[in-house]
Amino acid sequence: MNQLKKNNYKTFPILLLSWYDLNRRILPWRAMPGEASNPYFVYLSEIMLQQTVVKTVIPYFLKFVRKWPDINALAKAELYEINSYWAGLGYYSRAKNLHETAKIISNKYDGLFPKDKNLLITLPGIGEYTSSAIMAIAFDRKSNVIDGNVERVFSRFYAVDKPVEKSKIFIKKIAEKHLPENRHGDYAQALMDLGSLICIPKSPRCKICPLLAICDVGGTTRAKKYPIKLPKKEKEERYGLFFYLQNKDGAVLFETNKSSGLLANMDVLPSIGWYEDSNRFKKFPEFNQKKPNFLGMKWKMLDQNLNHIFTHFKLNCSVAIAKINDENASINDLSKSSYRFVQKKNINDLALPSLIKKILNALKNNETLDF
Ligand code: SF4
Repeated sequence: MNQLKKNNYKTFPILLLSWYDLNRRILPWRAMPGEASNPYFVYLSEIMLQQTVVKTVIPYFLKFVRKWPDINALAKAELYEINSYWAGLGYYSRAKNLHETAKIISNKYDGLFPKDKNLLITLPGIGEYTSSAIMAIAFDRKSNVIDGNVERVFSRFYAVDKPVEKSKIFIKKIAEKHLPENRHGDYAQALMDLGSLICIPKSPRCKICPLLAICDVGGTTRAKKYPIKLPKKEKEERYGLFFYLQNKDGAVLFETNKSSGLLANMDVLPSIGWYEDSNRFKKFPEFNQKKPNFLGMKWKMLDQNLNHIFTHFKLNCSVAIAKINDENASINDLSKSSYRFVQKKNINDLALPSLIKKILNALKNNETLDF
């Protein structure tokens, strides 16, 4: 790693902010120059942007603020509605935390976000990064906002030779030294824009980078070497079997997940498995040959395997299908359980995770089904 250069501490934000003034991204949650930021917009966008790219977030953000234009409106919403608006964004605990935090801000803080990082960080779903981002962008407070983009920029800028996973504290310290004395919100957003538009992961666009003249690796083939990363671990494989049950009216059986854990509060097809290393579900072909007896129905296995990638594992999915007829009409007595039949025209109103949408699409496109 090269020496930290004190001169950079001042030059870095000057160059970056000059570039930002001409090249900033126009985003629906961002205040235009001279306008005050809307803390609710900043907060909502930052929660949506956790683990999700800007392009995906924009339509969700617009849909949310049309429906719930401020934090008090969001606080009054029902969780199932928020979940259905969130469906497809993934990491569903964020939607629940959003609702919890909206209620706290509305009831405890009169609908105003506290301008205090120590208070912000106590709110559900708001951690170190989000509280720092809100302090900088919504309230223009000096705040070291560090995400993967910022780590990438600094690890290239100073050619940090340790894996980024092991140099987080160091990068945080050097990033702190480069903070300007004013325009804190602009600076945080400028760094985000630089990481998204110029110092991008695979092929940094050094030729048009405002930091080229002072960057340790700028314009050289070494730029691509950074940030150094630890070797990737293989994703663990899991196996799940999903049940698609249609009643005599054509309605489909769904259940709503519990309020915690993976896909919390989401509407899903019933399923079993999801184990990493169970005897029953270890190998896909064997798994497919099992004759599930769920709800006492005769199930037909869909001749198609799907998979879905979660953060920590890959889920290999099989789908079993069945239709209720006169012989097994007693199955209709599901009203007592947590299951419910949903008419096909209403399925899109449910809070469906992408995994379930994927399965439903596969079923829709499967011509062998006589449903
Ligand atoms: S010069 Fe290249 S490597 Fe350095 S910060 Fe700019 S884009 Fe990144």
